[in-house]
Amino acid sequence: MRVLKNEPLKKYTTFRMGGNARTMYVPETEKELMDLVQENSRILQYVIGGGSNLIINDAKEFDEVLCLREFNQTIEHRGEGRFYIGASVRLQKAIRSVNKAGYGGMEFLFSVPGLIGGALYMNAGTGRTTGKFISDFVLTVDVLRDGTRQTLKKEECAYAFRTSVFQSHTDWVILGAEFQFPAMSAEDAQKGIDERLALCKKTQDMSYPNFGTVFCVSNGKIMDFVRRFHIGYKNGCTYSAKRKNWMLHREEGTFEQAIKLLNRVKRLHRLFGKACKCEVRIWE
Ligand SMILES: Cc1cc2nc3c(=O)[nH]c(=O)nc-3n(C[C@H](O)[C@H](O)[C@H](O)COP(=O)(O)OP(=O)(O)OC[C@H]3O[C@@H](n4cnc5c(N)ncnc54)[C@H](O)[C@@H]3O)c2cc1C
Repeated sequence: MRVLKNEPLKKYTTFRMGGNARTMYVPETEKELMDLVQENSRILQYVIGGGSNLIINDAKEFDEVLCLREFNQTIEHRGEGRFYIGASVRLQKAIRSVNKAGYGGMEFLFSVPGLIGGALYMNAGTGRTTGKFISDFVLTVDVLRDGTRQTLKKEECAYAFRTSVFQSHTDWVILGAEFQFPAMSAEDAQKGIDERLALCKKTQDMSYPNFGTVFCVSNGKIMDFVRRFHIGYKNGCTYSAKRKNWMLHREEGTFEQAIKLLNRVKRLHRLFGKACKCEVRIWE
């Protein structure tokens, strides 16, 4: 296991923000992860995967952080489109491997800069109208729970739009999952990837570091107002003028600004009696 001291967390997030981890543990096997958690369950307070859905306080030192990027890189084809994929596998690598074996379906996640574990936790997918999610392909999910490896059936994972049972059990670690994919030709799979990447290039705002969509529940009209008025701080954190419900971290951005911007939008929703829920996870 790698143990890193005074590790800058901004390196680990797509938002490029965060204070240091005094100690970062990077287990390289499932056994190392299990031993570590058994010894010290407090380690589960701050868990990072691909870091693509996180805002981390830049004014705070975090005692211990658990980085899950290396402990389970398994991709195993168990036959007829059934795959076991480890939590540390990048989504792009998982998709390419499934496609290579003649199966597919998850190409809509090719644009998502996360890991299988984070995607299972968030139930990553497209928007509500197109409604495709990683959970569409899940058979079972393996978790480390109360010190042991347990297998949950998909029905036990409480999957819904951008949510899962894992979000209410932050002391569990997703180890990997078994998936069932339909057969797919290499051409169709590549077409799915190309279409997704072209759509994202056209609609997403990659001009500065970001974490994708900000709120998983919000009001379209309010979010359009926020986009049109480009609400934010000069040279700092700001809502995108291009993409609704999207925040950018410009050069002088701070955690404090990002949180103020989140709260401002929540207040607007409250004012108009509309529901609003953050998709991004926050380390205060
Ligand atoms: C440019 C861009 C585009 C995006 N597009 C999309 C999109 O199209 N659809 C979409 O749904 N999302 C999208 N996102 C958001 C994000 O990529 C997803 O939510 C992704 O699934 C997060 O995975 P991650 O590995 O980066 O998780 P992290 O950000 O590292 O973690 C997210 C949460 O999951 C927890 N977690 C991570 N791994 C584990 C594990 N193994 N066990 C237990 N808990 C864990 C963390 O503690 C944290 O609370 C986008 C983000 C960016 C930057």
